Amino acid sequence: MELDVLHHGSAIRLDGRVIPLCALWPGARESHRLLKARKLPDKTFELRMSNGDSKLLPDTVFLSPPLLIENISQLLTCADEEGVGLLEDVSVFCRGGRVEEVIPAGSRLSHSQREGVQVLDGRGCVVTPGLVDPHTHPVFAGQRSVEFGLKAAGATYLEIHKAGGGIQSTVDATRAASFEALEAQCWRNLSRLLSWGVTTCEGKSGYALETEGELRLLEVLRSVSQRHPIDVIPTLLGAHSVPREYRERREDYLAQVIHEMIPRAASEGLARYCDVYCEEGAFTLEETERVFAAAQNAGLGLRLHAEQFTDQGGTALAAHMGAASVDHLEAITPDSIAALAKSQTHAVLLPGAALSCRAPWPPATALVDAGVPIALGTDFNPGSSMTASLPLMMSLACMQMGISVELAWRAVTVESARSLGLKDVGQIIAGYQADLVIFDAPDYRYIPYHYGENHVRTVIKGGQVVSC
Ligand SMILES: [Zn+2]
Repeated sequence: MELDVLHHGSAIRLDGRVIPLCALWPGARESHRLLKARKLPDKTFELRMSNGDSKLLPDTVFLSPPLLIENISQLLTCADEEGVGLLEDVSVFCRGGRVEEVIPAGSRLSHSQREGVQVLDGRGCVVTPGLVDPHTHPVFAGQRSVEFGLKAAGATYLEIHKAGGGIQSTVDATRAASFEALEAQCWRNLSRLLSWGVTTCEGKSGYALETEGELRLLEVLRSVSQRHPIDVIPTLLGAHSVPREYRERREDYLAQVIHEMIPRAASEGLARYCDVYCEEGAFTLEETERVFAAAQNAGLGLRLHAEQFTDQGGTALAAHMGAASVDHLEAITPDSIAALAKSQTHAVLLPGAALSCRAPWPPATALVDAGVPIALGTDFNPGSSMTASLPLMMSLACMQMGISVELAWRAVTVESARSLGLKDVGQIIAGYQADLVIFDAPDYRYIPYHYGENHVRTVIKGGQVVSC
């Protein structure tokens, strides 16, 4: 049996399973940290806290019991091809980390079936699939609030650059940070996502911009994902920006991305996808195609930062090459929408970035009308979207982009899971991972309606309560 205390004493790992402190010790204060956890011979565990408290727990606490959420006022299964799959007054039974059954209204588990089952009450609550964020940049050092202040005061790009802002400032801070510091910051970022109901996210590298550094960021993502309740689907974003030292020789940097980063990230199993920022001032269409060809050759899936400020033709290229997603699309033209509609590629819309950059909203209704599947992401990153709130993205999509509430729910569950190629998350179906969120809300429409507020009561990952 392997038992150790994780990150700053906020959780333990037992045989590979991460159990947060709040699940073991509900009265523990935020400021209290676990110093030590050890197994005693008499089937108990001893936990010792930073404030001197200690507690003995029977080992049955650590055996994951089956979980029943009963009396759920509204359950969104997202299991159909349209709509949210709304069921009322039902229960969900989970065992072995998977959804076992959705129990219809009027049926109940018998007394003996309930024995040893952890029961949560869903009365007055909305239960949904664990949210899936298909676009985040969670591993970086530092933050850019000074730059935010300058932008708010009307500073130009050049003034921000002169004041030491912009992506290069995050690159400098990230390159200088230790592996442990990056892990700690990434852990906190994932915990922020979790607090808003996210149980799976995509996560990109892209703030080292040299081979060893980019691989190191992917290693941080892997290390944190193995221990944190959130599962991270890793993406190599070496082609995020041309770093300062390669400004006069961008071909050399591209060669590094194509011949070093991509083959190594793929062969070392560190990335599932490869992303490029195709935009004026970043990478051209022709360069994007070369990077994509190398990624496909190495067996990586494709995602693209496309048409954020100008339509460069990236969407049409990505759709033609069978990319999993094209992300942003604020400046997409009708021709590019038509090209996208002919493909299986998802549109990942990022309202937080549009809001922060004062860009036009992406033409969501035109995309929907063309039959393009839509996902929504936070684009959590230190420059243009410093938020981990996927529910806020739903609110912006509904209020500003003309997306229906039902489509918004699908866009953060089933469709975002599909955009990541995931087959057993994003829906509540027997056999799927038991990733669920209990929202303290009277109606599923209430959550995007009452915006900016966190309505999450409980997050369940793999059949276990991971936040409370
Ligand atoms: Zn992004």
